Amino acid sequence: MIIIAGEKMRTRYWRVNPFHPEKNKIIEAASFIRGGKTVAFPTETVYGLGADAFNPEAVQKIFIAKGRPADNPLIVHVAHLSQLKKLVQEIPPEAALLIRQFWPGPLTLVLPKSREVPYGVTAGLDTVAVRMPRHKVALELIRWAGCPIAAPSANVSGKPSPTSAKHVLKDMYGAIGGILDGGSTSVGIESTVLDFSSDVPTILRPGGVTKEQLEKLLKKVRLSPERENMNGNEFIPRSPGMKYRHYSPRGELYIIRGSIKKAVGKIRELVLNWQKEGKKVAVLCSRETHQYYQRNNFKADLLIILGSREDPKTVARKLYDALHWCDDKDMDIILVEEFPFEGIGYAVMNRIKKASGDRIIEL
Ligand code: AMP
Ligand code: MG
Repeated sequence: MIIIAGEKMRTRYWRVNPFHPEKNKIIEAASFIRGGKTVAFPTETVYGLGADAFNPEAVQKIFIAKGRPADNPLIVHVAHLSQLKKLVQEIPPEAALLIRQFWPGPLTLVLPKSREVPYGVTAGLDTVAVRMPRHKVALELIRWAGCPIAAPSANVSGKPSPTSAKHVLKDMYGAIGGILDGGSTSVGIESTVLDFSSDVPTILRPGGVTKEQLEKLLKKVRLSPERENMNGNEFIPRSPGMKYRHYSPRGELYIIRGSIKKAVGKIRELVLNWQKEGKKVAVLCSRETHQYYQRNNFKADLLIILGSREDPKTVARKLYDALHWCDDKDMDIILVEEFPFEGIGYAVMNRIKKASGDRIIEL
């Protein structure tokens, strides 16, 4: 089979009830998966772009639609534990404990892969990343397809992840077989990726399940070197995806690090300076600070309140939509306040930091 990159196809669209998905629509979407096509679908984290995990040609279509580097492996989504057993060689007791506690949910486990998993899914690695999503549409799709579904986020590689069908269609219309539109996703950032292939379970990517939650059940958990050092020394990535630019809007994104008062002052000054140069400047701020950006004739070109500094879950849910807005409104510069690292806030700041390409202004 020859697939030509960039070749347009008709993308089928199904609007589904996220809590009680209509069976006929799920069955049709599942027949696309079984037929080797790609289908985007909602999970509780972000929208995924799925294909039959046991069909290497179908999986290849995901890489083409996303422009994803071939050495960046995919997460395989399951709806039953029996599917997990077919994908991995064994399930260590600690992994079983986490599965009981957090599945279905935003926790991905990296385990030694079985022979059946094609190397196209794992990008040549002998491990496979697996999770069970906590979303009715995703689970029903996997059940009716009758196979595990390999699915990375349904965005063009390097761009902000999609948390609504509108975001997916912007990047993927004409490049994928179909999309199930189940509204906005509830967690809003990707799953935690936990590697069980080394002696101590290691968080390769922070996400919806926090290190504190994992520590309650595991003897020991490590953050991969990049995570321990948020300033990022040179290191060999354990997770291939970690070396790529991620989540980036078109505009240059800067994190402003410092006390709230200093950060607000600096952001106001930077907005004015850049506006003088004719740039369009967005500010992503908190509920506690937004009023300071609306005073004394001062006006950012786009002001988005991500949520309260004390409510990281809301900030996580709104982050990618905010980055998509910045692109839609053609922002040249995006200034983001640093948010507290508590709970899911750690994963939120990890994504913002990646989106910034390490542009951090320390005060
Ligand atoms: P995405 O689904 O696009 O959010 O990306 C999945 C993430 O999981 C990427 O950072 C991958 O590099 C990582 N990943 C997937 N499979 C593996 C694996 N076998 N070992 C390590 N990391 C993995
Ligand atoms: Mg992704």
